[in-house]
Amino acid sequence: MPEQPKREKQTRKARWHGYGTTRWRKMRARLLALHPLCVECTGIATVLDHITAVRDGGDPWAESNLQSLCESCHNSKSGRESHAPRTYGPQRRQRG
Ligand SMILES: [Zn+2]
Repeated sequence: MPEQPKREKQTRKARWHGYGTTRWRKMRARLLALHPLCVECTGIATVLDHITAVRDGGDPWAESNLQSLCESCHNSKSGRESHAPRTYGPQRRQRG
């Protein structure tokens, strides 16, 4: 009986390791210079953000998949992506 090679478990989400590279830094600097304002609040952008996350199949190097965000908009976007959606409806009150 041939032994099947064990496949690495892909329990962890594949992370893109491009952020530390010179290529990314150059691209980030170039695009932030071209688009210096946050697309959400028109504040000063400091973050180059992937519109479609790389882990969701977005192209990390496509300019069409990149947008400028300020830090606070980027944080709130990341928050929206990683947390369960908030409910804004009236909260149930406990009646004693
Ligand atoms: Zn912003």
